[in-house]
Amino acid sequence: MNTTEVQHVDVVIVGGGLAGLSAAAYLSEKGKKVALLEKGLLGGRAVTINLKGFSFNFGAHAIYGRDTSILRTFEKELRIDVDWRDFKPDKAKYDIGNELTSVPANVKGLFRTKLMKGADKLKFTFEIFKTLTHMEKGHPHLSIKKWMDQHHLTEDVKEMMLTLASSNFFTSEPEKIPSDVYFDYYRRLFTTNKPVAYVGGGWQSLINKFVTVIERNGGEIFTKARVESVTTEGDRIVEVQSKKGNLRAKEFVFCAPPSELSKMFVDTNLEHSVKHYAHYEPSYVFVYDLGLKNRIDVPYSYVYDKHNKMFITDISFYDEGCVPDGGQLLQAIAYIKKEELEDKERIAEIEGKIEAMYDKHFEGWRDELVVPRKSKRASAQEIKWKMNQEPMPVYFPDYRNAFFAGDWCEGKGQLSELSFTSAYEASQLILQKDKDQ
Ligand SMILES: Cc1cc2nc3c(=O)[nH]c(=O)nc-3n(C[C@H](O)[C@H](O)[C@H](O)COP(=O)(O)OP(=O)(O)OC[C@H]3O[C@@H](n4cnc5c(N)ncnc54)[C@H](O)[C@@H]3O)c2cc1C
Repeated sequence: MNTTEVQHVDVVIVGGGLAGLSAAAYLSEKGKKVALLEKGLLGGRAVTINLKGFSFNFGAHAIYGRDTSILRTFEKELRIDVDWRDFKPDKAKYDIGNELTSVPANVKGLFRTKLMKGADKLKFTFEIFKTLTHMEKGHPHLSIKKWMDQHHLTEDVKEMMLTLASSNFFTSEPEKIPSDVYFDYYRRLFTTNKPVAYVGGGWQSLINKFVTVIERNGGEIFTKARVESVTTEGDRIVEVQSKKGNLRAKEFVFCAPPSELSKMFVDTNLEHSVKHYAHYEPSYVFVYDLGLKNRIDVPYSYVYDKHNKMFITDISFYDEGCVPDGGQLLQAIAYIKKEELEDKERIAEIEGKIEAMYDKHFEGWRDELVVPRKSKRASAQEIKWKMNQEPMPVYFPDYRNAFFAGDWCEGKGQLSELSFTSAYEASQLILQKDKDQ
């Protein structure tokens, strides 16, 4: 694109993370001429960093409830194959201090786990049963903590429900999750046959597949092309401006976080709507990955430290392609609160606890270490699930041709599932307009 010329397409997509790429791929496959503008490199928070032969994915690329995931729809409709690597529940453990016990990710795990006693297991199973049969829906104005108090659950059952939520929702404050979100999520998870799956080749393999679809349909991708402003006419957006040039289109899908959008929309009616969401708090995590020369074989591929709310995933157990021959890639994630981010002592303490967790479960890692990778304030989800932090809508009535997608938007599931479902919804709304005309 020439910086002085204005290019015309059907749909402009702003942001090249998982939401932007999936929306661009889908719309181009359905016949739209698309152009995607990304301020940096493709991938966003799903970016992969290659260091000394190890491919460090930012996240563990775990897809929850893969048989009902929207990614299955993308697979079919975009004619792409995802290399699914199913999680092995037998290899998932909770560290409960002096021993490891099964994670109740399925019925077998539930009966084996030492996290609860017999009677509590029955009560817990009953609560789960109620969610499955839609007897229990929760309420948007009731946190899961308040819901549990009202229902007089035993301390062990309460703790089990919160421990599960902490590890699934990537939060150190599971008690603040709205109860309807909690039950919706577990209804889906407990009815799936594939509760967790990883993606072979990591996020990068998905990114490459979306790019292939966009390119085979004649779509264009511009990287290092930050969108700085938009031009509006009446209740429509007509153009976006970037250093790499300006693009005009009939429809726009904005897949950049609300903090970025509020800068782009200065002096438009959308500025105020979007600003509201820019103040919300993300789910922050501390990520500490290790690239090891030789595998340290242990009987688990996932360990969750219940007391410290942190976990290790043996990424290379599910995705052997991310390491040099014989190597191992481990990823530790600790949940941190916003107020802890600037507290250097607390951060050092978390780092020390992660190393101690590695010492305990992967003894000898220090001798095998080739390359560590740390990220002290990663945002696992741009809008954390907590009371009074509702996700951003996929469109606002102010503008008729502006749509929004990302893990800060309304959608199903959480984490990347929110990015994918909101991208799908935004794309459908655009395609629907053709049918309505
Ligand atoms: C440590 C970690 C672990 C995770 N683990 C998992 C997991 O196991 N499973 C799972 O499902 N999810 C996981 N996630 C979450 C998942 O990575 C995110 O949900 C997903 O990548 C978000 O994609 P997105 O497109 O919605 O947003 P983003 O990735 O944030 O994409 C937004 C894009 O917009 C671009 N942009 C911003 N401003 C502009 C502008 N002005 N102009 C142009 N472009 C702009 C950005 O550069 C970025 O590329 C994890 C995340 C982290 C950080």
